[in-house]
Amino acid sequence: MKDTYRHRGLRRMLIESLRKKGIHNDQVLDAMTTIPRHFFIDKAFEEKAYQDIAFPIGNEQTISQPYTVALMTDLLQIEKRHKVLEIGTGSGYQATILAKLGARVYTIERQEELFNRTQQLLSHLGYPQIRMYWRDGYKGLPEFAPFDRIIVTAGAPEYPELLAQQLKENGIMVVPIGKEEQTMHRITRLEGNNFKDETLVSCKFVPFLKGRVSSKTD
Ligand code: SAH
Repeated sequence: MKDTYRHRGLRRMLIESLRKKGIHNDQVLDAMTTIPRHFFIDKAFEEKAYQDIAFPIGNEQTISQPYTVALMTDLLQIEKRHKVLEIGTGSGYQATILAKLGARVYTIERQEELFNRTQQLLSHLGYPQIRMYWRDGYKGLPEFAPFDRIIVTAGAPEYPELLAQQLKENGIMVVPIGKEEQTMHRITRLEGNNFKDETLVSCKFVPFLKGRVSSKTD
């Protein structure tokens, strides 16, 4: 995999366009400037890697639009050493952005085939700070809870109660909630079982589905 001068130029232009769309978090934009998004998609679509659009990555899944990745990462307010749970590993792109910001990332994918493919890619790219699990994200990762941050990158039909319970006090979860279309929510655990729920922009994600899928039954 090569990151050429041309790729880097296209990437800088993409990042400039995100800035114009209202993303002002320099740490997030720097991380996105460093990571070659075209590594995470099929070579056939390489030309589109630096457009601000979502993308098919096989198994009927998508890599989120760069604007959405930037927005969600900004909302998370990641700090170095934060323990972050991601639901929906997909291509692995979002996970590497979180890792670049210094987070210790735990990411869950329900589709075995996608999980295997992305695990190979991430080990090739060298991200020891990302741990991947082939599991049902609805359950979170109770054995590693609580988390400083949780990011759900699939559309949750309803408030993910089990995940909220895995947040630390002062922890933040960013999650799109809704059936056909979603609204982005930022949920902050105040103390005990008190949560602050901020409702933000509308968005559209692939669905957060129950159970895990084995590649053999696909
Ligand atoms: N964060 C990804 C985008 C993922 S698209 C990226 O950067 O590319 C959403 C992903 O969520 C899909 O791969 C889908 O298989 C996965 N998903 C949906 N429901 C899930 C569940 N219950 N547990 C884990 N992953 C799930």
